Amino acid sequence: MSDAARTTVDGLVATRLQLLSPFTRKELEQVQMERLRQTVAHVLRNSPLYTKRLSGLKIESLRGRIDLEEIPFLTSEDIIESGHLLHCVSQSEVVRIITMHTSGSTGRPKRFSFTAADLDATLDFFYHGMRTLVDRSDRVLVLLPFEAEASVGDLLIRALMENGIYTAGLWPPPAPTHLAKHLHRNQISSVVGLPQQLLALSEDIEYGQLKSMLLCSDYAPQALRRRIEQNAGCTTYLHYGATESGLGGAVECAVHRGLHIRESELLIEIVDPVTGKQLPDGVAGEVVLTTLGRQAMPLIRYRTGDIACLDRRPCQCGGVTARLSVIYGRLQGCPLADGSRLYSQTIDDILFTVPGLLDYRLTLVNKGTDRIGVEYIAASGAIDVATQMKRLLQEIPDIYRAMGTGALLFDAFQQVDRFAPTHTVKRTILDLRLKGEV
Ligand SMILES: [Zn+2]
Repeated sequence: MSDAARTTVDGLVATRLQLLSPFTRKELEQVQMERLRQTVAHVLRNSPLYTKRLSGLKIESLRGRIDLEEIPFLTSEDIIESGHLLHCVSQSEVVRIITMHTSGSTGRPKRFSFTAADLDATLDFFYHGMRTLVDRSDRVLVLLPFEAEASVGDLLIRALMENGIYTAGLWPPPAPTHLAKHLHRNQISSVVGLPQQLLALSEDIEYGQLKSMLLCSDYAPQALRRRIEQNAGCTTYLHYGATESGLGGAVECAVHRGLHIRESELLIEIVDPVTGKQLPDGVAGEVVLTTLGRQAMPLIRYRTGDIACLDRRPCQCGGVTARLSVIYGRLQGCPLADGSRLYSQTIDDILFTVPGLLDYRLTLVNKGTDRIGVEYIAASGAIDVATQMKRLLQEIPDIYRAMGTGALLFDAFQQVDRFAPTHTVKRTILDLRLKGEV
């Protein structure tokens, strides 16, 4: 592949880590370990929680990835309970606090602080990451919340505008037919948004009208991507990131075989979710992230709950930065009466093959027996959507088994124009059984 096809993440990493291009994997990992030692020194000087937890740790002994196993994990619960003890700068240096609401039993939020330099690093990644799919001849529309300062949408728009790429925000997105007209009128060539919203849009735009789409903020099943590309005739790219990773995390290159990680600021390990031991590259396990150079609230060995594979071999694009692939969200699953479990991603993978299905929310209720109910949005003219969904759901082994023993039944499947406000923006299985609601 030509140098032009090489992932833009490599250029970012070289600049930010002051590596001479082209760099080797070994050189990159050496600088990452140096940055890790600096980060650990920073938290030991400033964070009461880390000072206590890492008291016996010898910074100089951190030489390779395996040495990270000396460091205990940081969990979501640590952030909820003791987030304030992780702060490493004074309050006056914090320019942005992002609050994440959790669905845990206490419902207490997670809060993350960022300094101006922390956010600048994100801006840098957003700009370089987007350069994989757009250049100055493009006009970009961001279909994400953007009004709050330093929200993902706001930072993305700023990152591109500051570098001379026309970018606008629109939230919430209007109905797909209106949105298609808006894109046409404003000569938009690339759109960033949630996978299911981009799928709905793809049904209404002219084939070839858009050059590219970036799917972010939610799990994007293969079937959904294929349908978008077939409907719209554009290339789709994936982004993986969360507040914990500093909003930006990893982005696909033109080869589409994994997402190149922002390794200047992130050191990613994949561990066995049960034993906590590092897994070999290519084996699926839990994503554990360590922030490098983060000032306000560095995270060291944070368990994301996400499942993915790591690939550190050179990419076909010529890129050296490691890639994440097959990324699944938090794999907890909803238990059924017979002990089997339902996973939202498994359901996503299969349901988005139904022609005309644009989005859905699945609810589990108990009316004497567990029942699956679905609200769904379908393209105009789509036929037999509910019938096809039911047929496919019954092909999922756990559902097939539970229905065979009578432990699980279907509840109503209802087509709607929009979801009830109780539903979340992201697709999850809404389990109302535990709350005794029906
Ligand atoms: Zn690549």
